[in-house]
Amino acid sequence: MSPERPRSRRCPCGLGESYSVCCRPLHRGRRSGAATATTAERLMRSRYSAFAVGDRAYLLATWHPSTRPATLDLDPDLTWQRLDVLATAAGAEGDATGTVEFVAHHRDTAGRDGQQHEVSVFVREAGEWLYVGPQG
Ligand SMILES: [Zn+2]
Repeated sequence: MSPERPRSRRCPCGLGESYSVCCRPLHRGRRSGAATATTAERLMRSRYSAFAVGDRAYLLATWHPSTRPATLDLDPDLTWQRLDVLATAAGAEGDATGTVEFVAHHRDTAGRDGQQHEVSVFVREAGEWLYVGPQG
């Protein structure tokens, strides 16, 4: 079997679609105003994908201004392997806040596996979900 072309590769977020029809329209749409995540979980998944593809602009754009860092350095030694969403609370289309608990699996250049486990807090402002930070 020939290797998949990058365009048709599975989206890193784990929803099962290819990146080109899954999170890429969100990554692109955030800049054009065409597409935004409808739920907190959807935003969380698209932000994970942005980490995986190195889209810093999307990560900063979907960060709440109150907690957004001035700059964002992505660790070039980490490859994001898989996202597991463990639980969600609120965060639906009609909600103003929501939380998403997840484990993000990564591997470094030495082949060591690691995990980031977080309960993330999101708020919806002007119809747009934004990442606030870890709960607590
Ligand atoms: Zn995706």
